[in-house]
Amino acid sequence: MKRISKKIYDGKSFNTGHIRLKENIRSSVKCDICGKEMLKKIDVLGYRTITDAKKAYFTGDQKSTLSVYDSFTCPDIEEKWHKQVIAIIKFAKNVPSKVLHDMLFQEAEEIVKNEKETKSGYDFEWMHY
Ligand SMILES: [Zn+2]
Repeated sequence: MKRISKKIYDGKSFNTGHIRLKENIRSSVKCDICGKEMLKKIDVLGYRTITDAKKAYFTGDQKSTLSVYDSFTCPDIEEKWHKQVIAIIKFAKNVPSKVLHDMLFQEAEEIVKNEKETKSGYDFEWMHY
């Protein structure tokens, strides 16, 4: 059974364990990386999108770009294995070989299943955003 979202396999847009949505649009959202139910925080005040944050920065108008939104975060977003899966998926998407692509996704599925990274001594921190 595949745990990584079908959206990722189909080349659709996906979340990597965090998403900000307009208020009350969804009661629950699953993480596209590991399939877990994400933790919901309601009534968060801030910049919902990068566009809103940029607009506030460049215009100096923070009030009109701030909004109240619902924030969903995977409980495992800070886990090393979760970060490794994101790094593998990003790498796999740019690999020009079908064989390597499939092997990488096979490893990513295995990591999600075991919730354990397969490579240590490598810093996946830079993948966090
Ligand atoms: Zn997750």
